[in-house]
Amino acid sequence: MGNENIRNFSIIAHIDHGKSTIADRLIEFTAAVDKRQMRDQILDSMDIERERGITVKAQTIRLTYKADDGNTYILNLIDTPGHVDFTYEVSRSLAACEGALLVVDAAQGVEAQTIANAYMAVDQELDLVPVLNKIDLPSADPEKVTAEIEDIIGIDASEAVLASAKENIGTKEILEAIVKRIPSPTGDVAKPLKAMIVDSWYDSYLGVVILLRMVDGELRAGDKIQFMASKAERTVDAVGYFNPKPAKSDVLKAGEVGFMTASIKDIREIDIGDTVTNPKKPTSTPFPGFKKVKPVVFCGMYPVDSANYEDLRDALEKLSLNDSSITYEAESSAALGFGFRIGFLGLLHMEIIQERLEREFDLDLVSTAPTVVYRITKRNGEVIEIDNPAGMPDPSEIDFIEEPVIAATVILPEEYIGGVIQLLISRRGVQKNIKFISKTRAILEYTLPLGEVVMDFYDKLKSVSRGYASFDYEMDGYARGDLVKLDILLNKDKVDALSIIVHKDHAFYKGRDLADKLKDVIHRQMFDIAIQAAIGNKILARTTVKAYRKNVTAKCYGGDITRKKKLLEKQKAGKKRMKSVGNVEIPQEAFLAVLKLG
Ligand code: GDP
Ligand code: MG
Repeated sequence: MGNENIRNFSIIAHIDHGKSTIADRLIEFTAAVDKRQMRDQILDSMDIERERGITVKAQTIRLTYKADDGNTYILNLIDTPGHVDFTYEVSRSLAACEGALLVVDAAQGVEAQTIANAYMAVDQELDLVPVLNKIDLPSADPEKVTAEIEDIIGIDASEAVLASAKENIGTKEILEAIVKRIPSPTGDVAKPLKAMIVDSWYDSYLGVVILLRMVDGELRAGDKIQFMASKAERTVDAVGYFNPKPAKSDVLKAGEVGFMTASIKDIREIDIGDTVTNPKKPTSTPFPGFKKVKPVVFCGMYPVDSANYEDLRDALEKLSLNDSSITYEAESSAALGFGFRIGFLGLLHMEIIQERLEREFDLDLVSTAPTVVYRITKRNGEVIEIDNPAGMPDPSEIDFIEEPVIAATVILPEEYIGGVIQLLISRRGVQKNIKFISKTRAILEYTLPLGEVVMDFYDKLKSVSRGYASFDYEMDGYARGDLVKLDILLNKDKVDALSIIVHKDHAFYKGRDLADKLKDVIHRQMFDIAIQAAIGNKILARTTVKAYRKNVTAKCYGGDITRKKKLLEKQKAGKKRMKSVGNVEIPQEAFLAVLKLG
């Protein structure tokens, strides 16, 4: 069978528009998975993906489809995550494809990630097949959504497939559209081996697995290969396809998508986007490679019990075998002891990693508020980057500070424009563009500091738009900002892990709010606790957590031993996420209180 019977495609969409469910239907239709093993969102294999109903890792599956033209086709489907933190996964998946299904919820219409993902696909010269999903919903309006796709994305959507993944409508039409409208891969089996590394991950049975898009040549177990960027040479252990579990095969040929293993121990040896070739007959046209993804959000994570420090290190080591996009570095805090500074691609990524650390490695962690990377030019000309507010030099040494900026897109119904613009302005947003995409919905384009977005922006956006605004962004360089470090002092001692970097104009009210919030979350103790917010030596705000009145416990719990016991147990459980600073106990919520500021 030649290339003409192969189709490599991705499914791209805004989150929740139905990518994974459409993938399920395609898998069922082509009977790629045994009926007994079939379950919803089958490609979301991690527990956390299934519970949250989101796709974190792109997944690949090979389908066989007998089309109406009488030919049998091999369809390689690469499911992609929709969330902005994982854009890089979408981008790599697209590099392995000739086309993509652009899935749009027919009731909701085009959203922020629909645009971001569609543009990415168009940039990579993929053919897009628009699919209007959820047409079973009474509020579905395929005509309106077709017009939105044409107006905003600028592709012909007149032949969009109407589908309901829920009710299995349009499944066959999607398969036919893939075969007819997505080109087959070019590439030549006779040429020297050229394959792109699309992804790699650690599998507990197979070790490091490499997802390959074959472009030219063939690959078999036993072949000697070279990774062109690192020059490393290996012998192939096995090759195969995904069904969706890896299944070994004899050969991978030009045009196909499949996996390879080669006794690689550490995922970090693998460069995503690198070219695999034959060291004796290397291809003359290696891929340019992908831009390395760099963490943009950082936080400190500390074991509640400092005896677990080494366990945390082991856990991070293991997790990064699975997710090479996290970075970690040992750090210590006067308040929190020994822990790690961990870098993430975004806030959702941070949440997921934290949850996996606690769940898969049974660790109790205290984490500090997320922060971005600030670039500081000192008066002596030295330029440093800090990912921890505690590392901020003394103001007298600083010439100027720059912060990362994003280009943000918000799509929303018109009735929320006022509220959302207000929110964007309060986050130091600058409007670039505003336009209507239909009578009732608009697109806002803003630049704003990433640091303002990591501080609880999503929840605020959701609440001011009642969940109707969608948001996407890309990094847009650095800009100077009038920024200062705000410190928190407990009984006159500065708590390094509570310091934040804020805009000078916001410092006063943020300091006051933060002191108030801390007062609410820090429990009463046997003595008064003075909370102060300060910039340098200047105190901005002060509150006090009053000591227990001596008879409080006696009054409330007098005599009732079971209730008292319960209270003690509760306190013990609550203790799990506490850190003692001096003689003050600080709960986890205190370190994240800054996220709740207005
Ligand atoms: P993804 O984030 O794009 O992968 O979206 P999912 O496939 O996880 O689907 C998001 C939600 O929409 C799930 O609750 C699905 O059950 C639901 N859904 C998917 N397709 C349809 C459809 O055709 N009709 C309706 N009514 N709901 C659907
Ligand atoms: Mg999904």
